[in-house]
Amino acid sequence: MTTKELPDVLVLGAGPAGMAIASALGKESLKVDVLSPKGPDEPWPNTYGIWGNEVDQLGLENLLEHRWKNTVSFFGNGSLKEHDFENKPTQHLLDYGLFDKKKLHSYWLNECNNSLINWHQGFANKINFEQHKSTVTTDDGKVYSARLVIDATGYDPIFLKLKSNEPLAVQTCYGVVGNFSKPPLEKDQFVLMDYRSDHLSETQKKEPPTFLYAMDMGDGKYFLEETQLGLVNPLTMDDLKGRLEKRLAYRDIEITSKQHEELGLFLPMNMPIPDFKQPILGYGGAASMVHPASGYLIGNVLRRAPLVAKAISDAMQDKNLPTMLIAKKGWESLWPTELIRKKSLYQFGLEKLMRFDEKLLREFFESFFQLPKNQWYGFLTDTLSLKEIVNAMWIMFLKAPWSVKKGLMIMRGRELKMLFKIIFPNI
Ligand SMILES: Cc1cc2nc3c(=O)[nH]c(=O)nc-3n(C[C@H](O)[C@H](O)[C@H](O)COP(=O)(O)OP(=O)(O)OC[C@H]3O[C@@H](n4cnc5c(N)ncnc54)[C@H](O)[C@@H]3O)c2cc1C
Repeated sequence: MTTKELPDVLVLGAGPAGMAIASALGKESLKVDVLSPKGPDEPWPNTYGIWGNEVDQLGLENLLEHRWKNTVSFFGNGSLKEHDFENKPTQHLLDYGLFDKKKLHSYWLNECNNSLINWHQGFANKINFEQHKSTVTTDDGKVYSARLVIDATGYDPIFLKLKSNEPLAVQTCYGVVGNFSKPPLEKDQFVLMDYRSDHLSETQKKEPPTFLYAMDMGDGKYFLEETQLGLVNPLTMDDLKGRLEKRLAYRDIEITSKQHEELGLFLPMNMPIPDFKQPILGYGGAASMVHPASGYLIGNVLRRAPLVAKAISDAMQDKNLPTMLIAKKGWESLWPTELIRKKSLYQFGLEKLMRFDEKLLREFFESFFQLPKNQWYGFLTDTLSLKEIVNAMWIMFLKAPWSVKKGLMIMRGRELKMLFKIIFPNI
């Protein structure tokens, strides 16, 4: 095959990230191949939530299966007396939505099918880099070449190299969609974080904190998920399941039928930035695009795909540009210095939160959600500039109780080093 006949890009993986970048590259009129183990119809395992504003700005609100206006969190200690102050909800006053996975998937498939995209089935396991192309070989010996390969194979990327070997903090969660003996939350309510801990013994309160992420799905069905924010030694599925059962039993609630169990086994929150000096690009979970504070990725993947695709397309206008330099242009658009700095700041925040006990975490989040809506929303969706984030964090620090201020000020472990990276991101 001559360079002229080569596909422009080979995308590895057909999860949300692979589909988003493939369709954006297709819109740039590039010739794109996508390789994934089960082809483009492979169902996605997770449930994808997103803030209403994010999905509205993307013009994709029609892809939501549910949308909630009554969105709250609980940061009190909790009490069995319903109207006790310790059960007082923090109102978020912002809509939250859940994607209809099938609709989201078909949306991207349609977008891809409107362009020059070829689908291939196979599991990539070897790559060979040459100056003007890369060649991928699958498990069953099929060979695919392109001017640029994009690794979108998720959190444990098949070919991408990451910059550091520091321990990963992993989010785990155990969720159930089902019916319950009585409503576990208010009608039409979405609960972002229920950190109430009155169901735990004093010993259990000293163990890693977890919260409930929950939503009313209608028709008597609820989705409840016991979630642990991020830990180097994460809790097991059995631990989380036990926590959820205990939380419900304390409030005299039984699961009467289970329609679906969601097992969130491995969601790394603080993946290092990839090594930019490699002749391959990454996208999505593989390229550390998950938000270290929330574990979310979909909004970011949707927003950034057209920008990255444009940078690749512009670079490819020079037919003699080596693959290494095309990848470099892609990395520069995916990870400009401002975003690297922001990521360091988010990672610093996560490191802090991982050390907080459940009481301090509740106090921290209580203060965080007292920030003006545009600030906490911008922080969680990564839509503020670095300057705006620093400003928001400073305001929160000034208003927070002494316990939180102290927790934020005392530097432990690698925190100081992480803070340093915000100022000198390229060291
Ligand atoms: C339980 C859970 C809940 C989540 N909830 C949300 C949420 O509410 N909102 C949100 O924004 N984010 C959420 N996330 C985070 C994130 O959106 C998802 O993890 C998302 O699936 C990551 O997308 P991805 O395309 O990068 O990777 P993946 O979805 O993991 O897709 C990887 C793709 O690569 C393929 N692949 C793997 N190896 C190879 C190979 N060697 N060759 C070829 N193909 C390969 C896979 O088959 C798959 O198609 C959640 C994550 C988890 C775990």
